Amino acid sequence: MFFEHAAPVNVAPVVYEPFRNVDGHLVDSVRGIDDSNGIKCGCGSKHVFRTRASLKTHFGSQQHKTWIASRNAAATQNPHVEMDDLHKEIEEWKNTASEYLQRVTRLENEKLALVTKIAARDKQIKLLTEYINMASSEEHTSETISSIDM
Ligand SMILES: [Zn+2]
Repeated sequence: MFFEHAAPVNVAPVVYEPFRNVDGHLVDSVRGIDDSNGIKCGCGSKHVFRTRASLKTHFGSQQHKTWIASRNAAATQNPHVEMDDLHKEIEEWKNTASEYLQRVTRLENEKLALVTKIAARDKQIKLLTEYINMASSEEHTSETISSIDM
């Protein structure tokens, strides 16, 4: 296969964002995070974490704890900060949703193109089969005729 030894596509690591609990506080959780391309932390750490476990360990670092605490403090002092955070989150999810929708549309178009191609191929096979049947029956006919001639 042509692509068998091709270099893997370089996919950017996901950026970790803490979750908001029911009280509106940001809390750390690694649940449901895709670590297949590594994870970068939103706190500004330059490290790319290869596993959820190593990200979880990083949650205990001073830089990370300060980041969470300052964001929570800002949100407590000013609900607008929390609102801004929520708007940002909503926008990010909207972008993700539209990326997925574009992907669905592209895949549906590819599927349609394949269905058309298969239909054309089937038609071609049917025509060729008819042609072969016709040709072989003509052959038999001419064989019959030549044997009669002899
Ligand atoms: Zn962090």
